[in-house]
Amino acid sequence: MSTTQLARYNTRAEYPAKVLIRGTPEYERCRQNNPSADTPSRFPQEIHVVKTPADVSGALKKATELGVHVGVRSSGHIFNLPNLIEGGILIDTTNLNRQIEYDPISGEICFGPACRVEELAAKLKDINRFFPHGHAPTVGSGGFLLAGGQGWFVRGWGATNQTWINKIEMVVPDGRTVIASRTENRDLFWAARGSGLGFFGVVTRFWGRTIKSSLMWERILKFEINSDSYMALMSWAIERGRDTPKYGTDLNLTIDYPEKYDPSYTTDTIPLNGKLHMTLNLLCYTDTIREARTLLGAYDKLTPEVQAALLEMHPVQRRTVEQVFSRKRRFLGNDKQDRWQINSIMNDPDVPLERLLEVIKPAMLELPTRTSSVFMCHCDIVPDEEDAALSLPQDLYISTITGWTDPKLEPAIYQPMRDRYKRAFPVAVGMYVTELDVNCDDANTKVMSDTALAKFLEIREKWDPNELFPNYKKFIMAHEKINRLQNKAQL
Ligand SMILES: Cc1cc2nc3c(=O)[nH]c(=O)nc-3n(C[C@H](O)[C@H](O)[C@H](O)COP(=O)(O)OP(=O)(O)OC[C@H]3O[C@@H](n4cnc5c(N)ncnc54)[C@H](O)[C@@H]3O)c2cc1C
Repeated sequence: MSTTQLARYNTRAEYPAKVLIRGTPEYERCRQNNPSADTPSRFPQEIHVVKTPADVSGALKKATELGVHVGVRSSGHIFNLPNLIEGGILIDTTNLNRQIEYDPISGEICFGPACRVEELAAKLKDINRFFPHGHAPTVGSGGFLLAGGQGWFVRGWGATNQTWINKIEMVVPDGRTVIASRTENRDLFWAARGSGLGFFGVVTRFWGRTIKSSLMWERILKFEINSDSYMALMSWAIERGRDTPKYGTDLNLTIDYPEKYDPSYTTDTIPLNGKLHMTLNLLCYTDTIREARTLLGAYDKLTPEVQAALLEMHPVQRRTVEQVFSRKRRFLGNDKQDRWQINSIMNDPDVPLERLLEVIKPAMLELPTRTSSVFMCHCDIVPDEEDAALSLPQDLYISTITGWTDPKLEPAIYQPMRDRYKRAFPVAVGMYVTELDVNCDDANTKVMSDTALAKFLEIREKWDPNELFPNYKKFIMAHEKINRLQNKAQL
C-alpha cells in the first residue's frame, strides 16, 4: 500500500515551483507531506502548489484538457488520502490565502483553506474573539469546514459550518471564482457544507462570525477499564454527559494504554499485562470557575462500580487552548514516523445505549497496538437538511484510531478495525464524512441522508458535469450497500 517516507510532516512546507512534476524529488516530498506516514502508492501526474484563485483555475483547466481527475489538499489529515488520484492533478492549497483577517465592524474572520487550527487560535487570542475551529493544532480549515466541523463546544451551537460560516469563495470546475452564501449561489453553499471529500470545487476562502472570548475550564477523571467494568463505566460516562447542559460544554472520552506516550516503549506491541485506561476530558467555556463547576457537576456522583475503577479525579481548573494543543501534539506531528487509520460511526439515537455499547465493545477494547486509541465525544448536532448537506444527526461521535510505526504490519493492520466497525452498522446512523475510506468500502456507511444525497448529486451534476472531482462516487457505493443490507433486513 505505502511507499518509503521521505520527509517529516511540515505544515509550512515550501516548494521551488508552483507546478511539481511526477518523478522529481520535490514532487515526492510534496506528495508525501501528510500527517500519516503510510502515504498510498497513488501518483498524480502533477501537483499544483497554488497561490491564487487564478492558479486554481489554471489547474482545473489543465485537468480538463488532459481529461483527468482532481484532488485537493489543505493539510492531508484524512489519513487514507482521497486527494491522491492516480494520474490526476493534486491541488495543494498550502500557500492559498494563508492569512487570517479580522473585520472589527462585522466581527468576521476571513481565512484560506490551509490555515491551521493553531493559526486560527493564535489570531483569535490576539483579537480576544472566539470561533469554533477544530481541536487539534495542525488540522486545516478546508476539509474541516467542508465536512461539518465538530469544533470547540459543538454541542450547543452545532457544527461550525452550520452556524458560524457566512460565506465561502471557491473556484468551480469551469474555472470561475464564485461566492457562495445563503443569498448567492445557494446550491453551492448548501452542498459545500457537509459533503467533505466529495465536494466538487476548490475552496479559496471562508468567512466566519466570531464572538467575544471567555475562559476555558477542564475537569479530568481517569479510570481503569476492562471487559468486566466496560458496561458500567461507559454507560455512566455517557449518561452523565447527557445530564450536562449542552451550551458551553465539550465532553470527550478516550480509551488507551498508559504506555502510549511512554518513551521507554518503542514498539507497536501492547505491553505485557497492559491495562486500558478510560479518560474523561470535560471542558467548558464560561466566565467563572463557579459556573464551570456547575456546568460539569453531573460527574460529581460516582456509583460504587465506577468508584472502584477510579484512578484519578482532578477538580475543575483553568485550561488554555495551548495546553490542550500540547496534549494533542503528542498524538500527531510529533516528528515520528507514525502511521494511522481512523474508523468511526455516529450512533443511531433511537438505539438504546446498552445495545450500542454491546455492539461497539470490540472496537472500544480490542485495540490492535500500543498506540491505538478510542476517541468518543458528545456532538449533539441536530441537522437542518434545508440549510446544508450535513444531514445526519450527530449524537455521539465514536472512533478508533489504529496507530503503528512498522510498515511490515501493512496491509494486515487495516482490516481488523474495519471489521469491528462494519459490525456496528446496525447501531449507526452513518459516519462522519471525513472518515469515509477511499481505499476500502468495508467499513463505509452513509455520510448524509438519502434525500440529501439525491439533492447533492443533482447540484454536483450541474456544476461538475465532466466529473473532475470523483470521490462522491464512494458516497453512492456506501449508501447503496447499506440500503441493500437494510432491504434484506441484514441490519
Ligand atoms: C488529529 C486529528 C484531529 C481532528 N480533530 C477534529 C476535530 O476536532 N473536529 C472535526 O470536525 N474534525 C477533526 N478531525 C477530522 C478533520 O477535520 C478531517 O480529517 C478534515 O477533512 C481534515 O481536513 P484537511 O483539509 O485538514 O485535510 P485534507 O486531507 O487536506 O482534506 C480532506 C479532504 O477535503 C477536501 N478539501 C480539502 N481542502 C479543500 C479545499 N480547499 N477545497 C475543496 N476541497 C478541499 C478534499 O477532498 C480532501 O480530500 C481531526 C483529524 C485528525 C487527524
